[in-house]
Amino acid sequence: MVLSMNFDPFNESWSIHRTLMCYTRGMALPNDYAGQACSLARSLEIIGERWTLLIVRDAFWGVRRFADFLDDLQLPRAVLASRLKTLTAAGVMTRVAGERHLEYELTEKGRALWPVVLSLTNWGDDFCAPGGPRRLFRHAADDGQVDRWGRCDRCGTPVPAADTIVVPGPGLEPPDDSRVATALTRPHRLLEPLRPVGATAAPSVEPMRPAGGTAAPLLGPTRPAGATAAP
Ligand SMILES: [Zn+2]
Repeated sequence: MVLSMNFDPFNESWSIHRTLMCYTRGMALPNDYAGQACSLARSLEIIGERWTLLIVRDAFWGVRRFADFLDDLQLPRAVLASRLKTLTAAGVMTRVAGERHLEYELTEKGRALWPVVLSLTNWGDDFCAPGGPRRLFRHAADDGQVDRWGRCDRCGTPVPAADTIVVPGPGLEPPDDSRVATALTRPHRLLEPLRPVGATAAPSVEPMRPAGGTAAPLLGPTRPAGATAAP
């Protein structure tokens, strides 16, 4: 990017100028909010990019494998790799050794996003779901319903994600041919690793990093041509 002015990255006019340059040159917009000192802006710099919050949502659903995120979200693998890199760098997710491959799981910092995911889901149920909620949440201890504030309507206590059972709601459509989406139609406890049928030894997940070796690339092996949907 060639700049034709002396710029101050914290100056609003610079921020507007840079945004316009991105538009006119067909470039991706920056993911920071240099002119904003608000904590919401700082949060959005981590979780505000397209797909990111859906990846976090899937992680609450129990998705852990690179290939399983791809299967459910149908996003370009390079985008998934980029988002996971951002989330791990920010300490929202971490990579752990799975049975054969590296997996991703939410850290405590990531699990602290559960009220955000729950609240946005409820907002979507209210205004964007004519068929009704796609998923409902129950308290594992007593099967009470988790309300929009994250409290059980039976015992009245706040229900953490790890004590929440997600069950299909009236608006949940029949799953497509995604094995992950199919697995997600069954009631299950949040954060418990999802093991979709047919995925136990899938070769298309990220390989494990050898002990003491260099960092494994975030990108998994190339998907067959045409197998990845556009975002
Ligand atoms: Zn309860």
